[in-house]
Amino acid sequence: MCSTLISSVPRILDGIAIAAQIKSELVERVNSARTRGHVPGLAVILVGEAPASQIYVRSKVKTCGELGIYSELHTPPATATTDELLELVASLNARDEIDGILIQLPLPKHVDTTRLLEAIAPQKDVDGFHPINAGRLLNGSPVEKVLAPCTPAGIMEVLHRSDIAVRGKRAVVIGRSNIVGKPLAVMLVNASATVTVCHSQTKDLEAITREADILIAAIGRPGFVTPEMVRSGATVIDVGINRIVTAEDLERFFPGDEARHASFAKRGSTLVGDVHPAAFAVSAAYTPVPGGVGALTIAMLMANTVKAAELRRG
Ligand code: NAD
Repeated sequence: MCSTLISSVPRILDGIAIAAQIKSELVERVNSARTRGHVPGLAVILVGEAPASQIYVRSKVKTCGELGIYSELHTPPATATTDELLELVASLNARDEIDGILIQLPLPKHVDTTRLLEAIAPQKDVDGFHPINAGRLLNGSPVEKVLAPCTPAGIMEVLHRSDIAVRGKRAVVIGRSNIVGKPLAVMLVNASATVTVCHSQTKDLEAITREADILIAAIGRPGFVTPEMVRSGATVIDVGINRIVTAEDLERFFPGDEARHASFAKRGSTLVGDVHPAAFAVSAAYTPVPGGVGALTIAMLMANTVKAAELRRG
């Protein structure tokens, strides 16, 4: 009786704690690189002054400082042309002390994003978006040799460090973006899961998601995954980050949650993932929003920067 009660309480997969663990391991690797005469270096390019991008970039640069990684921020104006930005990328590609180059997205509409991302030297592509790195991932290159996209790599870390078995499990990924859904599906296949990718044109989604031992939602729709879509005892990974601003949404997603209501009253908004909070109760383990997958993304960017430095220097 007692054990039934205990096992029915879902485990919260604490992204903040896992990110802290990853970062403390990175400090050791950065120190060890320093004793070998090289400080890993990241160049961040922020085009224009979009407030959300400025916040993300500031946080990336700050984390570099905390871990002892050298960083520099380039801030071309929103009017910068594709050619001017290509020149900047070429100059960073050529500098030995720069191990990673990150272009903060989205870019202004007139800029050719694909051309720019493909201009980054693959060995400095710490976002893992270059076709060479995407191809290596698809070909099943060993994880320690690939610069893989940060959010899916962070999800794999959450599963691994939480001792959630992947091999032979049924994984369902909702979302097929190049940044999250597709690379995550590849990583799960490489880890020997049986994977189904669902998207906006999928028929009878609920029947598929209910088969999942591991269900991952990367859709960008607040509370999209409802309790009926989750198999009892599944692991649920919520990638979505959606800001809600109306009292109606607050009540819809967090009825009776006093802490959320208090925080909403203070800030005028709160975050909800792509999974309805009521659906977590059906799971055996889940990543919360905030404090789940989101916490891992910057840690994995740092990990890729250190990895890029190590790989480039043998
Ligand atoms: P995207 O808009 O590029 O892709 C969304 C995907 O959802 C698409 O593949 C689409 O087919 C699918 N989709 C849309 N409606 C659907 C429906 N009704 N049924 C099934 N599938 C549907 O989004 P993205 O960049 O992959 O991001 C997804 C979410 O993850 C967003 O909320 C984003 O904010 C969040 N995100 C979080 C992090 C993080 O660090 N935690 C990083 C990247 C993205």
